[in-house]
Formats: sequence, C-alpha cells, structure tokens
Amino acid sequence: MRERLKLHINGIVQGVGFRPYIYNLSRKFQLDGFVFNDPKGVVIEIEGARVRIEHFLRELKESSPAVSFIDTIRKERIVPRGERGFLIKESIVAREKFVFISHDLSVCGDCLRELFERKNRRYLYPFINCTNCGPRFTIIEDVPYDRPHTTMRGFKMCSLCTNEYHNPSARRFHAQPNACLQCGPGMNLFSSKEGLRGRFRFLQDTQDVIERAAQLIIKGKIIAIKGVGGYHLACDAKNTEVVRLLRKRKERPTKPFALMVDNYKLLGQYCVLKRGEREIFCNPRRPIVLLRIRKKAHWMEAVAPHQEYLGVMCAYAPHHYLLLSALRKYQKEPILVMTSANRKDYPLVHREQELKQLRHCVDYFLIHNRPIHMRCDDSIVRVFRKREIIVRKARGYTPDYVELPSLKEPLLKASVDKIKILGCGAELKNTFSILKDNYIITSPYIGDLKNYHNYEFFLNTLSCYRKVFGFHPEVVAYDFHPDYLSTQYAHSLECKRKVGIQHHHAHIAACMVDNALAEKVIGVCFDGAGYGLDQKIWGGEFFIADRKSFLRAGHFKYFGLIGAHKAIEEPARVALYLLYDFLRDNLFDLDLHFLRHFKKEELDIFLKLIRQRHLLLTSSAGRLFDAAASILNLKHKISYEAEAAILLEMYASHFKGRRESFGFTIGKEKGIYCIDWQPLFSDMIKDIQIGKSASFIAHKFHFTFARLIKEMVKKLRKDFGIKKVVLSGGVFQNALLLKETVKLLEEVKFSVYYHSRFPTNDAGVSVGQVVVASENIT
Ligand code: ZN
Ligand code: ZN
Ligand code: FE
Repeated sequence: MRERLKLHINGIVQGVGFRPYIYNLSRKFQLDGFVFNDPKGVVIEIEGARVRIEHFLRELKESSPAVSFIDTIRKERIVPRGERGFLIKESIVAREKFVFISHDLSVCGDCLRELFERKNRRYLYPFINCTNCGPRFTIIEDVPYDRPHTTMRGFKMCSLCTNEYHNPSARRFHAQPNACLQCGPGMNLFSSKEGLRGRFRFLQDTQDVIERAAQLIIKGKIIAIKGVGGYHLACDAKNTEVVRLLRKRKERPTKPFALMVDNYKLLGQYCVLKRGEREIFCNPRRPIVLLRIRKKAHWMEAVAPHQEYLGVMCAYAPHHYLLLSALRKYQKEPILVMTSANRKDYPLVHREQELKQLRHCVDYFLIHNRPIHMRCDDSIVRVFRKREIIVRKARGYTPDYVELPSLKEPLLKASVDKIKILGCGAELKNTFSILKDNYIITSPYIGDLKNYHNYEFFLNTLSCYRKVFGFHPEVVAYDFHPDYLSTQYAHSLECKRKVGIQHHHAHIAACMVDNALAEKVIGVCFDGAGYGLDQKIWGGEFFIADRKSFLRAGHFKYFGLIGAHKAIEEPARVALYLLYDFLRDNLFDLDLHFLRHFKKEELDIFLKLIRQRHLLLTSSAGRLFDAAASILNLKHKISYEAEAAILLEMYASHFKGRRESFGFTIGKEKGIYCIDWQPLFSDMIKDIQIGKSASFIAHKFHFTFARLIKEMVKKLRKDFGIKKVVLSGGVFQNALLLKETVKLLEEVKFSVYYHSRFPTNDAGVSVGQVVVASENIT
C-alpha cells in the first residue's frame, strides 16, 4: 500500500545543503516524489511504503545537515500519484516572502583538504566551497536563495561545475557559489596607486599572487585584503614597527587589533584556552574570540596595549588559509593582524569604490571580484562560564532568528504574531531589529550613527532586510532620546503606530528575551548613557520590570557632566566633578595626578560650572568607572569608547589577594533608593594616599560595585518579593564585574541572568525595543 505525504519545513533550510540531503534520504529509503524551495522554506512530497516514510521522518528529525535548523514541520496526507524517482524541482518565487537565510560559513574541512591537494582541480583555488560551506548572507541579493539571486550570478558555471551542481551525490549539489579555476572569481594584488585607479584584472590562478602578498607582509607592508563581509587591513603581528605604523595611519593609538591564525594549537603558548573556547574558535561561524593572555610576548604590547586579552580568530576564507600557508615558508608560526578596514568612525570598506578611504592606510590591495552585497564585520565573542557571550554580532551570527517567548493568552498571541515591528536601535553601536512571524531578526553591527556613512549603512541594510524578509513595518519602536538619528528616522517613517521606549528598559527586555523570561524581574542596568524619563541621563539603574513596563526602584546619585558629551571623552572631567562635589577646595591639597590634566584657565571655568550647577546630570555607572580610571592616573582622555573603564578592568584583573571593598550608602528619596558614591571615592583617595597599588584599588572598586548591586537587590527582593535578577547594559561587558556580581548574587540565592545571544551593550537595544513594543500594542 503506497502512501503520499506533503511536508512543509520551516527554518534555516535554504543554502545549507538541505535539498540534496532530502534527495539522498529519499534514495536511502527508496521513496519517490520531489523537493523544492518555496519562499517559506522547503516543500517535500514523498511517496512509498508507510514504514519507509516513517524511517524517513525519523532520520529527518534526528540528522539534518549540521548548519541547518528546522523550526517546524507541517505534514499533510495526500493522494498517491504513483510516480517513480525523486526530483529536485525549481524554486518557487512568491509575494509573501519570509525565508530563514543562513549566515556565512567558513571553508569546511573537506574543501580545505581539496584546496591543498595537488591533484584536485581546485588546488589552491581561493573560492572553493561546497554545500556545507562558503558565503551566504553576504552574497544574497534576494530570495529564494538561488544563484541568480546572489552576487555569483555574473559567473557562468563551466561544464564540470554544472555537472557537480546537478549531481545529487556530489558534495557541490546545489551549492550556489560553486566555482572553479575555469569559471569562477579571481584575485589579484595591486599597488595602492593601481588600487585607487580602479582598473582591475583578476586571475583565477592565484598561486603567484598569494606568494607575492606573503613576501610583502614579511617585508613589513600593510595590505588591504578583501574577505567575506568586507576588507581587512593586514600585516605581520610580530613586526612591532609595522603594527605601530598601522596605528599611526589608522589614527588608532591604543585600541586593540584583532589577530588571525590558521591553527588553534599555535594559540596554546600565548593564550589560555579554557573549555568551550576551542570549540567556539573552530566553529564555522569563526568569530574573534577574546582569549586571556598566558604569557606576554614582546610583540603583544603594540597589538593590544595594556590588555589582558587578545582578540583572535581562525582563518575562514580559503585565501586566508593560502596566505598563512605561504607565510609559513618564512615564519614558523605566522600571525596576522587583521583589523577591519575602515577610517575612524566609518563603516567597514566592502566595495572597490570605497577603496579611496584607505589611501593613507595601505601599501597594497589584495582584491577579488566576487562582489559583497551585505557588508558584515567580524563578530566578537567571549566565553563566560562555558557559555558564549556575544560582544559584537555580525558575520557568521547574522541573520539569526530568535523566537519571542509566547504570550499567555492565545488570542493575543495570534494578533501579535502577524504584526511587523521595527526597532530602530540606539545611536552608538547601532543595530536594528525586526519582528516578523514572532521571530526577532537583528541586523549586523552597524556602528555610530552620528557618522553619516554609518547612517547610510543603516538605511541600506534596512532596505535589504525589507526585501529579503518581505518586511514592511507596521509599528516602529524608537529610543526616547530626541537627538538619536535612529529616533529621527522613526519619526520620518509613515506607519500605523510609533512607540517610544526608555533606553534601559529596552536593555533589560533584550536580556529577558535572551533568557526566555516573561515574568517580573529585578533589572540592573549599568550603562554609559540613556535618556531618562526625567530628561536626565540615566545609566546606573535598578528596575522592577517585565517586558511591558518598568518601575525605577533605585539609581546612583546624580552627578554633573562638564561639557556634556565632552565628559565622556575626558574621564578627568567626571573625576573632577565627583571629587570637588564633596571635597571642595580641599581637593587641591591632595596632589592627585589627574588634576594636572587640566590647564589653569580650563580648571577655573570647570569649577565655576560646577558651583553654578548648570550641568547635564547623570546617574551613569559607566562614567563612575571612567572617573575611577582617571583618579588612578590610568587614562584622562580616551581614544576609543570605554577605554578608561577597560584599563581599570585590566589593572583589576592582575590583582591576586583578598577581596576588599570601599564604603557606600544606600538612602531613599521619594520612594526611590539612591546610592551615594561619595564614601566610595573618599575611601579610594585614602588608599591612594597611603600608597596602595593601582591594581589593588582597581580591584577594590570592581568588588565594591558587585557588593552594592547585591545590597540593593536584597532590598528590592524584600520589598517586591522577586528573586530573578537580570543584568544588562554596556558596563557588564566588564568580565570581572560580571563574574564578581553573579557570584555574590548566587551566594545569596538569587537567580541571575545575563546576556549571551544579544550584546549587553547598545547593540542589544533594538531587540528590547521590538519586545517592549510588541507588549504595548495589544
Ligand atoms: Zn566545503
Ligand atoms: Zn567551473
Ligand atoms: Fe545603553
């Protein structure tokens, strides 16, 4: 008795070898029928004996391709047709488009083997890929995911490649970017002059090109290398002279550079590789992993000044492997600096027209002609308690699909399911998120919208998301800050509803979704800056919150920002306010180093401003960390975001010894708890005066923060009876603070939640915005 079943499968099932997998599975169980991509996923019809169909279904659920992700399988019994054989049919294009597009994947083990196999027809070919690996999101222009909708459409497959593409038993069956030396993209090396002139000739046989690039790197040259989601600036990491030159040219005096190696074994001698870190390092997503330095080598200070961590990634494009392998002729253990190729505050360069932005930075260009459609920077992750924590989410991690934990009432759920929401994000570290069919899909990391080129990047990515995900916002959510460009964009849109959302509520809501929480929680949001309901700048907040609303239950005592945003760049200004606030002119008897940062006239003006009380007020925890770094004479003016706070963390993490804490007091004003920082800084100064080390004091500062969080949430647990604590905000990027806080809270029986899939910094804000909006429109 023959039966026929129609299956609709949703999830990441396009561009990950799903159809060939189904084909092979149907052959294995001798079933007839067909499979094709439709705009919502994959549709299969299978026909044959019932037991065989059952085996087929079991195996489908248990062993689908490694990079695929099955969300739902809908089954329908239909009338048998008696056809013979199994077919892969043409994809169907439709109007209502929503497809789970896969993220980019590094070259796989099989392709890597072929790449270095002399007899293979793709020997040393930099664009080798297969059904299980290669570019995806960055080359897709439209759906369904088929070659004509990718940037590979300009390359016509040769007969050998065509055969592989159509042969269900080949590794490259329906591999959309399939290519070889006969028919695929090429690469070439150009001097900076040639590169800027823009007339390129590319070669498929790149052996010579790669060899020359390796020689140039050995000679201490800086090369811009086109990769998967954009360009990198590359040089020899162990050549301190060229690393310093790169810093000068890129106007980036101290921000750490990312490194690339082709083998994790090499890392063992430089970094501590904890459990979980090796797996994440070798994962086909290939993020930059922040690894603790084991022993400082002489070259590290130039690559990552004052850092205790190195950001390292494993090679992911075939040409990265080719280059590192060519370098092995000259060096035993080649390590490359691979920093994003962009001008300060500009987006990553991803197209040849933008190369002129790099003219002051590079000596050579290594360019290929497979166009990058979606710009996508490298992702950054760290491992905390064996769990991956995403710091910057981009290549290999976007797009991703996080289901919004469902609402209790099914009726409400059904109506929300259909609503399409756009969350425009914050300003610094901007991302946007969309909510469609109850999935949250976040954009890759965009950056600081104050720069017009980043704003353009925001607009382009959004229009791409509209197209690829068939998304048209009905509701738009934005930050309360009136000056954010993302907010102004939201106001310019024409749509049904617009919802303003408080910055830190969005942070907490993002972390709630990250941990599938829907109930009321204590939210601790320690952040740089966010617009408050009282028009002051919030950033050291304790909320009682759920996904719909929040109550501000506690915060740091307000302090003034001398020169508003100038105070963010100059932590010494914050330090001055905080100390002058309670020491007044006695401050100048103390001979504190940071005071020398100011010119006499400047100091007079600042003191006058403090006395007149005409300053923007903030409760920002981030600024308190900055101030501590300045008082300790670590940093008075920063060259990249959060530099001072990061230095404070680095000093603190050297410290080994008994944990001590400064004093602090928690008072109550108008029903809201308020933490006074005065005793804290007053104790700190005493420690400086008796000559305690910077690392001791920095650690004590961190531990004080963990303790004050504990004392505050204990009060809130008593008042509100809530035991779940959610930690969010940029300050929790500080691994030491996170570690100490989680530990202290767990000791007193709190359940503690922090970010992992969404960044704790402002890149997570857009996620929280769509979540809060979705709860407030019903
Ligand atoms: Zn492969
Ligand atoms: Zn070919
Ligand atoms: Fe924030």
